Amino acid sequence: MDWTKIESEAVADLTALLKFDTTNPPGNETAAIAWIAERLRAAGIEPTILSSDGRPNLIARIKGDGTGGGPLLLAGHVDVVPHEREHWSCDPFEAHVRDGYLYGRGAVDMKYMVVQCMTAFLLLHASGRVPSRDIIFAAVSDEEEGCTHGSRFLVEQHAELVRAEYMLGEVGGFSHDVNGVRYYMVEAGERGVCQFKMHAVGDPGHASVPHRQNAVVRLAEAVAKLGTTHLPVHICETTAASNRAMAARQPFGPRLVMPQLLHPALTDFVLDRLLPDRQTAFQLAAALHNTVAPTGLAAGQKINVIPGRATALIDGRLIPGQKPEDLLREVRAVVGEGFEFEVIRSFEGREESVTDPLFRLICETLLAHDPEGTPVPYLLPGFSDAQYFGRLGAKCYGFAPVRFPKEDGIVFSKLFHGHDERIHIEGFKWGLRCFTDLVGRFVTVPMSST
Ligand SMILES: [Zn+2]
Repeated sequence: MDWTKIESEAVADLTALLKFDTTNPPGNETAAIAWIAERLRAAGIEPTILSSDGRPNLIARIKGDGTGGGPLLLAGHVDVVPHEREHWSCDPFEAHVRDGYLYGRGAVDMKYMVVQCMTAFLLLHASGRVPSRDIIFAAVSDEEEGCTHGSRFLVEQHAELVRAEYMLGEVGGFSHDVNGVRYYMVEAGERGVCQFKMHAVGDPGHASVPHRQNAVVRLAEAVAKLGTTHLPVHICETTAASNRAMAARQPFGPRLVMPQLLHPALTDFVLDRLLPDRQTAFQLAAALHNTVAPTGLAAGQKINVIPGRATALIDGRLIPGQKPEDLLREVRAVVGEGFEFEVIRSFEGREESVTDPLFRLICETLLAHDPEGTPVPYLLPGFSDAQYFGRLGAKCYGFAPVRFPKEDGIVFSKLFHGHDERIHIEGFKWGLRCFTDLVGRFVTVPMSST
């Protein structure tokens, strides 16, 4: 295999894909999906395209002999989140290259992985070998607005096309340097969602005579409490395994402190008092608690009328194993009596085994491509298409390997939805080899670059 050629084609593919403005809303994924379809057709593969409300989703399959097990689904979304042009140093849809980085909205979330999936799929096809299980490639729309016209539509309307034993998706396999140790975070779980309205009820009245039953005041007090209180600690398997694997490689001090996060009596003390980097503390807090973020407020029509009702929009997230009612109970314990709750959207989180053969193979493959790295499990604080593909029984892991130079101080999670979103070109090529190698190993069609 000519890897120099494969890599430069993949960079050209990513460049092309970044130039499609697939900002969601509204998405406008049609041209990007059509372009991927053409890439497949040029290689002799006819994809299936299924649309929901004009939003296309592409699916293609290479048949395996089934000796290795059920299908492996490689899935990515082509839509991207909106951007604020004034905070970007370049046009987000020109695929600008500077200092070894390729800039563009979607560079990390997640067009680079769409290219990794497509490349592995095309190479497998070109090999002419029969894989030991079916490989499905899905490029979907509408992930960023909650998956309705993408993965959710496919799962609910065309399950037979995307049902798989395993799925590989976004947000995993990226390098993350902590105190000089390079980790690769492999996503083995995602938190659930409980988004709700919290209504405070009070006595309406004329604003010239303030009283103590003002719904606006009661709501404001409750929101302030929620914004400054940790809910109870919940330790799931993924976070426990992640913590142990990371701590084991740390220098003396952090190696002693980190495991204390897993003792519920100490968790909040460590988070609030012993971690100097607040951003890291927030990330860890999200992996150890159900969380609530107030994101909207509504009350009152007229400045001289005390309204009888005030409402907060609250985005709650659930540790795997926790239910929406668990979170609401925890919220009630913080805010006290006298509030009404109205759930808008909820589903539970998910986590996969970190001893599964695929997870182990991911770790082995990462080590083969970077012997100095340490693969560790990772709990995604949000959710992805895996939330839906997983509902058909697939074991879903987030694995889209990419490496950033330590000296650049890049924090991968901050590039997500961030200004000047960019990917390191050499790190992308490294990840492409690693990803392709993994897929080849898993379906017993050698595609190694090493
Ligand atoms: Zn994404």
